[in-house]
Amino acid sequence: MSTSPRHGFNTLAVHAGQGKDPHTGAVIPPIYQTSTFIQDGINVLRAGHEYSRGSNPTRGGFEEQLSALEGGAAGFSFASGIAAEDALLRAVLAPGDHIVLGADGYGGTNRLITRLHHKWGISASTVDITNLDQVRGALRPNTALLWLETPSNPLLGIADIAGWAALAHEAGALLVVDNTFATPYLQRPLDFGAHAVVHSTTKYIGGHSDVLGGAVIVADYLHRGQSLAEAVGYQQFAGGAVSGPQDNYLAARGLKTLGLRMERHCATAGRIAHWLTEQPQVAEVYYPGLADHPGHELAASQQRGFGGIVSLRLHSEPAARALAESMELFQLSVSLGGVESLVCYPREMTHASLIGTPLEIPGELVRLSVGIEDTEDLLADLERGLALAERADQGAVLTV
Ligand code: PLP
Repeated sequence: MSTSPRHGFNTLAVHAGQGKDPHTGAVIPPIYQTSTFIQDGINVLRAGHEYSRGSNPTRGGFEEQLSALEGGAAGFSFASGIAAEDALLRAVLAPGDHIVLGADGYGGTNRLITRLHHKWGISASTVDITNLDQVRGALRPNTALLWLETPSNPLLGIADIAGWAALAHEAGALLVVDNTFATPYLQRPLDFGAHAVVHSTTKYIGGHSDVLGGAVIVADYLHRGQSLAEAVGYQQFAGGAVSGPQDNYLAARGLKTLGLRMERHCATAGRIAHWLTEQPQVAEVYYPGLADHPGHELAASQQRGFGGIVSLRLHSEPAARALAESMELFQLSVSLGGVESLVCYPREMTHASLIGTPLEIPGELVRLSVGIEDTEDLLADLERGLALAERADQGAVLTV
């Protein structure tokens, strides 16, 4: 079935790039587990494919599916979220360029930019994502790119994407939005003027914690005389950090149910966030769906729902550690966005590379990735965990 941008989200998720196999009629396109493609003559390609680093039908199907959902001109799939970010940066930047980087964001992105790309002459200034004056003040004549994550990881800050995009356009720079937390079901940054979106498809896109991947989706835009699609496509081919066919199949399969899963993640996370605000062991709850969250109205204006991630601050570091280590359904793990609930202690897990910097995550913070299990079971797990956290807070020796 051919799709058009007029189709609804779930129709596109199921059908875009996922046409049936014309040879057998199989409803699910085959997994093209091949490295190369036989040529009918020298450089006469049968269906446009030569070698799977350059293109592969399974990867192409997933790229088309995700790009359709983000409303992009083209999509590119990589071996991990960080590989996707790295490829995008290499494709559009040159030595001497400067990046304005949202301070609250995935620690690995900060590490990639400030530790790896720094060596190749890229500088970066970090800014509060919610403060557009600070973003404007950080712009320099050599600013080539603004990098934003909203909602942010792990503090769930909300940034005004259209405001950031206006500043990027004024400065002649690109705006990249990491849309991993919101997914295209909740938010489409390209509609607000962003030039490119990146994903760790490891998270909600794959949705089942069984595949690692990343993606870049670009708008139809000319950057330094080259279309973004050409620049990222060439980097993908020449740099080679592509995702394999099995991984693309898993990601495409997960993506088909993204809308259903996000509805459920949002509903359960919303209930849990409200419940947490009533618990005496909890000092603060970070969830954009709460009416008193500073970004609540902005999130409501640019997102369809508030997402499945809830962060909370306990009264002490021992309490936070005890909560993270004591639950059963919320399994202690890095990563997020799967059907199963996970709990993470960001300071020493996902954001350990920020320890000792001004951006280090407070030790009282715990991040929950709320899965699709029954809400009552998740609340019972949290209630038990918070009781143990309270004992840790009082200095009791725990027997978990
Ligand atoms: N962006 C965000 C928001 C993330 O949370 C992560 C990983 O946790 C990444 C990017 C990096 O993705 P990956 O782990 O797939 O390389």
